Amino acid sequence: MLCAMDATASATTTAMPDTERPDQPGLLVIVSGPSGVGKSSITHELVRRLDANLIVSMTTRPMGPRDIDGQDYVFINEREFRDLVKLGQMLEYAQVYDNLYGTPKEPVEQAIADGETVILEIDVKGAQQIKQQMPHAVGIFIEPPSEADLLNRLRERKREDEATIQKRFQRASDEMQLAHDLGIYKYTVINDRLDQAIERAVELIEGELDERRG
Ligand code: 5GP
Repeated sequence: MLCAMDATASATTTAMPDTERPDQPGLLVIVSGPSGVGKSSITHELVRRLDANLIVSMTTRPMGPRDIDGQDYVFINEREFRDLVKLGQMLEYAQVYDNLYGTPKEPVEQAIADGETVILEIDVKGAQQIKQQMPHAVGIFIEPPSEADLLNRLRERKREDEATIQKRFQRASDEMQLAHDLGIYKYTVINDRLDQAIERAVELIEGELDERRG
């Protein structure tokens, strides 16, 4: 986990215009950000504070020692994954590193229809697919204060060897660039200080909920 984030600076945000009017009772929030930026810590706290639904993704990646099947991900093999795609049961999916990751459609649609707040923690390509189907979804992109800071965080996790860290770092830089280029995220939250980043993300979602209620 990424809980050992430093506690020294602030969280800042920028907003992009979004003129979509929601046509469904629930709120769909997409949280993305590069590997190591602390998005899991933020997402879990959002779920707790907002009583939101975190939809568990499916993946073909091997289970890690700290992973819990059904809680962190539903771990399936590639054939099972491809079958679900064929059956139209994935809302979106993407290849990340060498593995497939996807969001199951039914639990998202059900929770939205029930008026709940749903949070997806997915990559930028997945977010792009969701925005095409559900333009009212609100995207929050979590960024590190700098690329150097991100590289430090990846190293401090001590999860991978240097070659893997460099691969993740390269992908992280590309992903940040893509997020900017696509312009699909309504908000950017800089995770300089974890507690402030969480606070800011909670405020943003509460603002969106108020707007929908109003
Ligand atoms: P990890 O294996 O480190 O948990 O996740 C690797 C990347 O996959 C992260 O950027 C994460 O946001 C992304 N990811 C996790 N679940 C999904 C999903 O359901 N769909 C997509 N498109 N990306 C996902």
